[in-house]
Amino acid sequence: MNIRTDGLTGFLDRGECIGEVERLAGEARAANTPFCVLWIGIDRFRQINSSFGHRAGDNVLAKLAHRMKSLAREGDRFGRMGGDEFVILLPGRGVAEAEGTAERLQQALKVPMEIGHVRVRPSGSIGIAQLNTVEPLLHVLERADRAMLAAKRLGGGQYVVSGGEKVPGRFGNPMAQEELTVEGLLHEALETGGLSLHYQPILSAGDGKLEAVEALMRCRVRERNLAPASFIPVAEKTGLIVRLGEWSLMTAARLAQRLGADGAAVKVAVNISRAQLTAPKFCQALHAVLACTDTPADLLELELTESLFMDMSDNVRRNLAAVVEAGLPLAIDDFGTGYSCLAYLKDLPATKIKLDRAFVVGLPEDRKSFAIVRMVTQLARDFGMAVVAEGVETVDQYDCLREAGVTAVQGFLFSRPLPEYQLDQWLQERSGQ
Ligand code: C2E
Ligand code: MG
Ligand code: MG
Repeated sequence: MNIRTDGLTGFLDRGECIGEVERLAGEARAANTPFCVLWIGIDRFRQINSSFGHRAGDNVLAKLAHRMKSLAREGDRFGRMGGDEFVILLPGRGVAEAEGTAERLQQALKVPMEIGHVRVRPSGSIGIAQLNTVEPLLHVLERADRAMLAAKRLGGGQYVVSGGEKVPGRFGNPMAQEELTVEGLLHEALETGGLSLHYQPILSAGDGKLEAVEALMRCRVRERNLAPASFIPVAEKTGLIVRLGEWSLMTAARLAQRLGADGAAVKVAVNISRAQLTAPKFCQALHAVLACTDTPADLLELELTESLFMDMSDNVRRNLAAVVEAGLPLAIDDFGTGYSCLAYLKDLPATKIKLDRAFVVGLPEDRKSFAIVRMVTQLARDFGMAVVAEGVETVDQYDCLREAGVTAVQGFLFSRPLPEYQLDQWLQERSGQ
């Protein structure tokens, strides 16, 4: 180790650090043990230097380095990468332990410090990276550096774990790297035919007659199935939902048209996101779908989440009015989960409420859920609306929902969402009964 002239005894210099990372990472990989790197950048250090001079700045750095070092555990290595940037190498430690160290470091760094007559409150931005099984050994150091910069962009005084850091998305919104990966996969799915719709039957609660099917998007790309809960939010954030939505409307309309032409007309419900309804050309696209597929408008139903109605822009209002004008029924999806305000129901052109699964899951034991379901069905009846209960999985839930007065049911008890050819079989089996 070099004899240091900067008062940072026990700290490796940049070159030594790089050598040490290579050595420790190599050992960790050979032994299949974890290895983490923390990269620490002191926040606003330049301000301290320019306000108090370089000597005071060096003094502050030495004190902060001492605070960091006091947290050392056996096996940890400390290094200075230059200026106000430090690294701590943690052989044998995984991300959870590294996060613990980062939290302790932040506590230690932010203890106030006097410079002359001024009291400063230092803080550090910390990037954490764990060596993965495939990357070149030194990449772990680079990733820790990038994560530290991401922590700085968040305003400092925070830590970011590599892989979760935000980078600018296509619309300038910060997106986590995972989301960018999903975005890439979605583009690929659009180009390679990886998207499909599955259809889940919705049955009348009274006589079990098929009322409609709900189209639910599925995405398979590079032999991976992405769940709607992970890809729909990304598609909404990036604006890709507009293309995905047009595709699902077209695909659903084709099915509705085909079933109608076969003499077994079934309404197909399609989920629509806010971003689609705010697009000025939504109605044009909808009309194009109806015209291209020759589908009667009342065979398509649009499901819109409750939150959309609480905050309606002029575009949304105009588009909704045009949808109703075109003769498509509207349903309020996931009812009861977003907002408790019911005032919006008064002027809404929807004909159906879809009660969220959250109110179904605890039935029949959960009497409070039961009371809510009954209240909603009464209200809907007075408003002339239908109520569909989502997520029905047991016969007891079904009986309870019927007692509460819901008009239709949907859930695994009756059928899972099915690919189109299985839906055809399901329909055939029922018509044969
Ligand atoms: P959603 O519209 O409320 O759809 C119902 C969800 O509940 C579906 O999840 C369905 O598979 C699931 N489900 C149905 N029955 C049961 C049950 O008995 N038990 C349980 N545990 N779950 C049940 P999925 O397919 O994962 O879709 C999740 C959400 O993603 C949908 O919620 C919808 O908001 C959104 N989504 C799906 N496809 C599209 C689409 O094409 N466009 C848009 N904008 N959103 C979509
Ligand atoms: Mg839905
Ligand atoms: Mg729902």
